[in-house]
Amino acid sequence: MASSPSLPPNAAPDAIRSVAIVGGGTAGWMAATLLSKLFGPALSITLIESDEIGTVGVGEATIPQIKLYNQAIALDEDAFLRATHGTLKLGIQFENWGRLGDSYLHAFGDIGMPLGSLSFHQHWLAHRHGGGSRDLWSFSLNDRAARADKAGRVGPLAGGRLGGLAYAFHFDASLYARYLRSLAEAAGVRRVEGRIEGHARDGLTGNLTHVRLAGGQEVAADLYIDCSGFRGLLIAQALGEGYQDWSEWLPANRAWAVPTARVRAPRPYTRAIARSHGWQWQIPLQHRTGNGHVFSDRFISEDEARAELLANLEGEPLAEPRLISFTTGRRTAFWSHNVVALGLASGFLEPLESTSIHLIQAGLARLVEMWPTRAFNALEVAEYNRAMGMEFERIRDFLVLHYTQTEREDTAFWRHCRAMARPETLTSRLALWDAAGRVYRYPEDLFHEPGWVQVLVGQRRLPHGHHPLAASLPADRREQFFDDITAIQARAVDAMGTHAEFLTGARAAG
Ligand code: FAD
Repeated sequence: MASSPSLPPNAAPDAIRSVAIVGGGTAGWMAATLLSKLFGPALSITLIESDEIGTVGVGEATIPQIKLYNQAIALDEDAFLRATHGTLKLGIQFENWGRLGDSYLHAFGDIGMPLGSLSFHQHWLAHRHGGGSRDLWSFSLNDRAARADKAGRVGPLAGGRLGGLAYAFHFDASLYARYLRSLAEAAGVRRVEGRIEGHARDGLTGNLTHVRLAGGQEVAADLYIDCSGFRGLLIAQALGEGYQDWSEWLPANRAWAVPTARVRAPRPYTRAIARSHGWQWQIPLQHRTGNGHVFSDRFISEDEARAELLANLEGEPLAEPRLISFTTGRRTAFWSHNVVALGLASGFLEPLESTSIHLIQAGLARLVEMWPTRAFNALEVAEYNRAMGMEFERIRDFLVLHYTQTEREDTAFWRHCRAMARPETLTSRLALWDAAGRVYRYPEDLFHEPGWVQVLVGQRRLPHGHHPLAASLPADRREQFFDDITAIQARAVDAMGTHAEFLTGARAAG
């Protein structure tokens, strides 16, 4: 028998009364926690997951936007860091990307501060074009702190004119899902353990009417959220939505993942080290380090990629490496009928800039914005699909930039990346940058101007010119402006505790 929740007394007659979330990985529990927090008892939420199938078990690095999700669920940050053995993340250090031996941090937060009507980087470009040698990252508080192994909660500086420390988190993925589960269940989410083996659809509308578990139990809901991982159990297998394959732009299709023992205090940043035919991640947690090698099996065999990872670990492996296969791309529709796909079921952009958990959050925010009735207004569904599609594409372009903006020619993989065609949206953005350092931003862009500037400069693409107004600032005034910023940031870093001290404090706060 399908379960049928009762209508809360104050709800509109066609209000969504029940949601079934299929999948208990990061996506499923993020959805359950947020929706239970926002809707309370007005919404009956059931989450179905299969211990036998398990979760993908990776996804341990985030970007600062996750703090918006944390605020929305009123998360206690210290408790969360304790429960997930989490650490702070100030950015991603990219090694060997432009050339072998290169290294730069894509640091979160601002670089310097705007002056007059111009972004900071325009003044820096005028300085460089005038023969100056100051490093762009000497104006990043995050970079300075990361280099000193420091991190903490540091608000804006200079009376709010200079940004503070922007941070995200690294955490243990399975502990994160477990932590969210405890919050969601406490808020009334019902968890059903079992494997879904079938479904039924309404003959007239095509909407899903129920899913059926092994053993015969049926779960019915007004709205279904497909968080079933790569298989896309509802969105693809039940509703037949297709997949846009983006491998022509992002060639990696495999990853080996392996945890290692900690050998030093956790660094407050992720490392993304380009290897012979892909790249390696290193994610520091309190109790261990997460590692992985992302590669394309068109260029290197799985065995060779595994050996390259094992040869480049900082600590002893704590388990056998695990192989994960994927295809970069997105669903043709994220929302179809009464099913919304989130997480890996909605598409996958490889983890180079740690954007997948953000896309779960972005999908949830848009779903809440477009929260439907049981009539499922086609315009709202179309707007959701348009906006999410744009968000995926803009992140895709940023990732493609990392691969194509290289001078490496040492392997067939890097020669391929260097010669690869770029999406038109990226090509036009680069043309604008090359002329005078302008960064075009689309409304759905996730990465802000300093992010684009750091990757471009860090991978050796300096523009030919700069904004004409930057040249009108006298050089001595510009130098004074630069000195003031670096002095304020240097004092802030001196006053900051180490990352290790911050984590000790978070552990003790419980
Ligand atoms: P899963 O974790 O796969 O969960 C699927 C759930 O569906 C499971 O609970 C499973 O039991 C259930 N299920 C499936 N079929 C059935 C069925 N028939 N019946 C019942 N239940 C079923 N993201 C980041 O933001 N940062 C990163 O650093 C990062 N690194 C990554 C590295 C790699 C190599 C990969 C592949 C991904 C990475 N990601 C990263 C992405 C991140 O792992 C995912 O976005 C996140 O874990 C969400 O996964 P999910 O919940 O969609 O799917």
